[in-house]
Amino acid sequence: MDSTAESAKEKWYKEGLRFECQGSGKCCTSRGEYGYVYLTLEDRRRMAQALGLRTSQFTRTYCTQTEGQWHLKDNPKSPDCIFLEDNKCSVYAGRPTQCRTWPFWPENMQAKNWRQDVAQFCPGVDRGRLYSAPEIDQIVEAQRQSEASLQGVRRDSLSFSLKVL
Ligand code: SF4
Repeated sequence: MDSTAESAKEKWYKEGLRFECQGSGKCCTSRGEYGYVYLTLEDRRRMAQALGLRTSQFTRTYCTQTEGQWHLKDNPKSPDCIFLEDNKCSVYAGRPTQCRTWPFWPENMQAKNWRQDVAQFCPGVDRGRLYSAPEIDQIVEAQRQSEASLQGVRRDSLSFSLKVL
């Protein structure tokens, strides 16, 4: 559905949605094909800075590529992300876009998916802070642009800021 069609139709989350991370660590554990934590260049720069490394050092140490897209290396000891320690992100301030935008990912923003899949998987859904519909739209767009950037699509005409996330 394009943005015109979306805006013409009333959003199912027009009253906003509640979400607050409960520290379950579930979204930081690999789920098969959805296991990778993908990284844009901006993500790698931010994570490197948070760890006090140069971007090239960070990339060499912690990253690898699949089909031309950068992502964090697998954890050789478990399905957990290499930065998950005691169910907490050890690089939280510099965490990648896909971690910042969870659970407001484009593929989650169908009412059925949200209520059946996302809410059952993530204990933070329906808790804590109320995100307004415009805030949610901004986060979804940030994730959409991040995915476009990973696929090499230039989206210069669109602007967004991760400062709010
Ligand atoms: S980078 Fe941090 S928030 Fe993202 S999956 Fe890894 S531990 Fe979780």
